[in-house]
Amino acid sequence: MIPSVLPTYNRAPLSFVKGEGSWLIEADGRRFLDLGAGIAVNALGHAHPALVDALTTQANTLWHVSNLYQIPQQQALADKLVANSFADTVFFTNSGTESCELAVKMARKYWNDKGHPERSRVIAFEGSFHGRSSAGIAAAGSQKMTAGFGPLLPGFTHLGWGDHDALKAEDLSDVAAILIEPIQGEGGIRPLPDMCLKGLRALCDESGTLLVLDEVQCGIGRTGRLFAHEWAGIVPDIMMVAKGIGGGFPLGAVLATENAASGMTAGTHGSTYGGNPLACAVGCAVMDHVTDPDFLADVCRRASLLRQRLEGLVAAHPDVLEGVRGSGLMLGLKCKVSNIDLVNAAYAAELITVPAADNVVRLLPPLTLSDAEIAEAITRLEQAATALEKAPA
Ligand SMILES: *Cc1c(COP(=O)(O)O)cnc(C)c1O
Repeated sequence: MIPSVLPTYNRAPLSFVKGEGSWLIEADGRRFLDLGAGIAVNALGHAHPALVDALTTQANTLWHVSNLYQIPQQQALADKLVANSFADTVFFTNSGTESCELAVKMARKYWNDKGHPERSRVIAFEGSFHGRSSAGIAAAGSQKMTAGFGPLLPGFTHLGWGDHDALKAEDLSDVAAILIEPIQGEGGIRPLPDMCLKGLRALCDESGTLLVLDEVQCGIGRTGRLFAHEWAGIVPDIMMVAKGIGGGFPLGAVLATENAASGMTAGTHGSTYGGNPLACAVGCAVMDHVTDPDFLADVCRRASLLRQRLEGLVAAHPDVLEGVRGSGLMLGLKCKVSNIDLVNAAYAAELITVPAADNVVRLLPPLTLSDAEIAEAITRLEQAATALEKAPA
């Protein structure tokens, strides 16, 4: 008999009943240190007082009105995003994949309105992840997500990650946009070198192609800058955001320049819930923290401490671990054993991590993870790695 919850997930046998900062409390009372943060969502940890206050204050005032009316919380959040990024304008969604939908629609509409409806193709990359909507799976293109769901949304081309020659060989005259994650998350914490991001920007500038960045996982302070592309000193034309911006409340956004958004006039797009007062009140509170330069500087400091400790762990367990990669508090442990085995061994040590492709275990802790919690995380990872160590010959 089919379970009452549609069985599309392989769930771990863990039920968390409470969250406190970087900690999750299981129904049986065990306290897990959370280096997953709901897959890079709980940017300020669990039950952060400022977010609880923003949500409850808004909940006691007004929940929902629809986008038929002005929404002051939405205006405030859009203003904060515009003031702190390349963007001139913002549309609010409820998830990353909805942001992907709009990013693709916006890029196609842009060229349509410029008199080039044939410029509709989107170049994306192997190993990428853009969500589970029809545009999202077509954009990522992997068999794992698309098999059985055809016909797929047409107009996507997939190039190998880092395949410069394939990119150079592309005729961009029918291309609306290049869509890429500055750091692949699901793909196994694969950062795009700054040079490549600069090269993509230059290619887009020459050809007029729109550069769309998916910062759903790597954005909102995760790398120690508000957005990951800032490290490369370039700006996109359109950017997808979600996950961390809601700190645990469902919220996403598409940020764009005035030029890229020029086709999106009244009636061209919409969402019932997108930018609802509850979500935007929480989003404003998240932004107030993650835009603070002292907060970001401290994320960078704690991220290098964590990375240094992880390098030590890799050196101490060469049979289990191969290396550390990533940026800021978006780190991946490339495994020599099965990554799933390491995730399970970490569960046994009461530590939450997240598996990714390419046999990587992801560490995506709350951005508020303390120095003491970093030390505790290393102790627990040490325990997990030791449990997987081959018995000496
Ligand atoms: C999670 C994720 C998405 C999809 O977000 P949802 O909120 O699950 O729809 C898209 N892109 C990237 C890079 C992601 O990590």
